Amino acid sequence: MDVPTLIQPGIAIAGEAARFPVRRIFCVGRNYAEHAREMGHDPDAEPPFFFTKPADAAVAGGALPFPSRTGDLHHEVELVVALGRGGTNVDRADALGLVFGSAVGLDLTRRDMQAVAKKLARPWDMAKGFDASAPIAPLTRGLPAPDAAITLTIDGDLRQRGRLSDLIWPIDALIAELSTYVALAAGDLIFTGTPSGVGPIHRGETLVASVDGLPPLELRFD
Ligand code: MN
Repeated sequence: MDVPTLIQPGIAIAGEAARFPVRRIFCVGRNYAEHAREMGHDPDAEPPFFFTKPADAAVAGGALPFPSRTGDLHHEVELVVALGRGGTNVDRADALGLVFGSAVGLDLTRRDMQAVAKKLARPWDMAKGFDASAPIAPLTRGLPAPDAAITLTIDGDLRQRGRLSDLIWPIDALIAELSTYVALAAGDLIFTGTPSGVGPIHRGETLVASVDGLPPLELRFD
């Protein structure tokens, strides 16, 4: 048997031939107060927290296979920030200088499996980090406007709506905080959290995830 050759996971960059190489995917949980409340938590008592997905969970939109082992696949529309440089213990004032670009993505979640994991105090990996669990639209250099709207529709029906200005940890604070847990590096993606309105996805529905100023993400599950 030959030593295997690995494929570098990556995502498209709008208007450019080069792809953005994905090193790691970090996600923040409960970074919008209304979403924390809809999940049964008090955002004033419990600060946001981090979890991860594998790098090859990042895929483009379009037609995706419905994930296995779930009867309750949930959408979480999120702004995704891509780092072009890294660091540890990054000062908040320097944090936005690490950003290469941004995109809209979905933090897909096997909500039924996550509920069992929460109840039994087990890890979330299989509820959050499954194959193709991080569909992402093409990246745009820089960041959207600080108060840009973030929305998700299913078959044209508005399900999630928020503003980036509602983030509990804004992007600079998020990067600074995460850099105290791990050494950040070029190629890292950060899912910045979802506004309220998360809910189930069914086969055949068309989802459109948007952040004003960025290319939308359109997808459906067959
Ligand atoms: Mn999320």
